[in-house]
Parts: sequence; C-alpha cells; structure tokens
Amino acid sequence: MAACGLPKTSSRYPKTDKSIEALKAENERLKKWISDLQSGMYINCVYCGHRYGPKSETPVSMADISKEHIEKCPEHPMSHLKAEYDRLRKAFYGN
Ligand SMILES: [Zn+2]
Repeated sequence: MAACGLPKTSSRYPKTDKSIEALKAENERLKKWISDLQSGMYINCVYCGHRYGPKSETPVSMADISKEHIEKCPEHPMSHLKAEYDRLRKAFYGN
C-alpha cells in the first residue's frame, strides 16, 4: 500500500526525468531570452523569444523581418490564424 501516494515502483521515474529535462531546456531557453533583453543588443519576439539582431547588423526594415517571423512563429497567435486561413482557403478554393 502506498501510504503517501507515491508510486511503488520506479516505472514512473523515466517519465518524470523526461519532464524535468524538458523543463531544464525551457529554463535555458528563457535564460537566453532574458540575457538578450538585458544586453540591449537584440529584439526578441514577445511570444517565443526568437532573436532579431544584433541591432547594428539588422536591416533598417525591422517590420519586414518581424512579419516574416510572425508568420512562422510557433507561439504567435497570428501564425495560428494564418494557418487556419490557409487551410480554409485551400478547402474553399482548392489552392
Ligand atoms: Zn516568435
């Protein structure tokens, strides 16, 4: 009987380790994002942290670069809307 609710066997531990590894990777990604912000040298996507820059090497047209990323960003709501629009357009018009 598992008095405290913990699993009796170690069968669940690999899953837990995988979750911890995923969280460590996410923590590292967020640390890099914070570092970018604190350096003042980069501009980052507010949804996923994608780095543009450094500012000195980025073309003047930041709006165009930003639009390119937003259309592909896995986190940005606009990319989700564009994917849905593309799917519906294809279903309706066939292309
Ligand atoms: Zn993004």
